[in-house]
Amino acid sequence: MTTGQDTAPSPLVTEGGKTQIVIVGGGAAGLELAAKLGARYGRKKHDIILVDRNRTHIWKPLLHEVATGSLDANLDETGYRSHCRRWGYRYFHGSLESVDPQRRQVILAPLLDDDGSEIFGRHAIRYDYLVMATGSVTNDFGTPGVAQNCLFLDGRHQADRFRTKLLNHCLRVSREMSANPSADSRVRVAIVGAGATGVELSAELFNAAEALSYYGLEVFDASRLEVTLIEAGPRILPALPERLAAAAHAELTALGVRVATGTQVVEVTKDAIITRDGEVIEADLKVWAAGVKGTPIAGGLGNLELSRNGQIVVRPTLQTTTDDRIFAMGDCCSCILPGSERPVPPRAQAAHQMADTVAENLTRMMKGQPLKDFVYHDHGSLVSLSRFSTVGSLMGNLVGGRMAVEGRLARFVYTSLYRMHIIAIHGWVKGLAMIAIGRVNAIIRPRLKLH
Ligand SMILES: Cc1cc2nc3c(=O)[nH]c(=O)nc-3n(C[C@H](O)[C@H](O)[C@H](O)COP(=O)(O)OP(=O)(O)OC[C@H]3O[C@@H](n4cnc5c(N)ncnc54)[C@H](O)[C@@H]3O)c2cc1C
Repeated sequence: MTTGQDTAPSPLVTEGGKTQIVIVGGGAAGLELAAKLGARYGRKKHDIILVDRNRTHIWKPLLHEVATGSLDANLDETGYRSHCRRWGYRYFHGSLESVDPQRRQVILAPLLDDDGSEIFGRHAIRYDYLVMATGSVTNDFGTPGVAQNCLFLDGRHQADRFRTKLLNHCLRVSREMSANPSADSRVRVAIVGAGATGVELSAELFNAAEALSYYGLEVFDASRLEVTLIEAGPRILPALPERLAAAAHAELTALGVRVATGTQVVEVTKDAIITRDGEVIEADLKVWAAGVKGTPIAGGLGNLELSRNGQIVVRPTLQTTTDDRIFAMGDCCSCILPGSERPVPPRAQAAHQMADTVAENLTRMMKGQPLKDFVYHDHGSLVSLSRFSTVGSLMGNLVGGRMAVEGRLARFVYTSLYRMHIIAIHGWVKGLAMIAIGRVNAIIRPRLKLH
């Protein structure tokens, strides 16, 4: 495997002395990198361009809270246009359609209005260095009926769609019960995949159901919610130690979640999830949260090497295996570090750390210096069971290896990850102010977003 020592090309200076660095994807990794490079170079020295298909950024680990209405994404999102002005990079609203490494161009699809009319046509952006940070999408592993009948939590729109459907079903049940108090009406939700997303969403649903009774759905309460969490593996939360997974399992069961481990889904229909054993789990809302794959790019990625999961294969320097000038980071890359057999996991902390390494390596590359290898520091995993509990394990020198944490300490560390992201994209002063405002909002705003 080639390491950073032999991959530094000669320094590259383009016309006008400006180097054009294009970052595609303004998520956990891409937006942090854009802010970092913008702060370091500003617009005068290099031209830093961020491309994203959305106008605003919301930190993806918050999506299950957006989906249940516990969090109002309008308050937590960051608009790229105002952010780029503050941080000294340029933002292009557009969706990557293909990459042409020979011409050093990314091609953006035509931008369409809601009614399908074209705002502007397909166009190309030239790059001297390209950073791919397009994240991941849920992997349905080709299971029949999933794409047509399941909801996913891959982005803001999907989370909003889930919330609208959830509220509509709650409203239906509330009406049915008002008309007939002895009716056995329920909102049935089936979630496939008991990793962090599935577990967190299950708990968050009960938090939302309890809060709904405050907001006009007087006859609706958590007993009207029927949640089934389905996992093919032998236990939930495979990334956490067994003791903590068992604690989370017990907490979910106490809330009323039916946890079905060792259960493989073979098909999803309009009304139900079908398991290998032939069980038919009827559900109003079906959520698929079982594994991820690289975000598909319709027109392809030229000669870039892809893994079996459609992620871009990178070297330890986070450069792609076929092109020194193209980096990939975050969920969209597959990075197997020396001495490890498995890729760096698709997590927010990996995205954050990779953004640091790519920023450093771009600087080194432009100076003609050898690049450094990415080192992944696993600080542990934390899973929030809404306001009911938080469990996880911390890792590192500070805690002397791996330490199981629960309760307030776990909650504090869990929220710290988001706070670090806020500070990384807004700086200390604005970041701390936003965290303080978030605390105030949590007190004065309604507990649920109901629209
Ligand atoms: C519900 C949920 C909960 C999670 N909880 C945790 C957690 O507790 N802890 C943790 O560590 N991780 C968690 N994760 C995983 C974490 O969110 C990801 O690992 C992280 O966001 C990856 O960052 P990224 O920058 O690679 O991708 P993303 O943050 O997904 O950003 C990708 C960006 O690329 C843009 N994009 C995609 N395709 C295109 C295109 N064709 N053209 C232009 N732009 C494009 C998208 O709009 C997006 O802005 C969670 C994920 C989910 C869904």
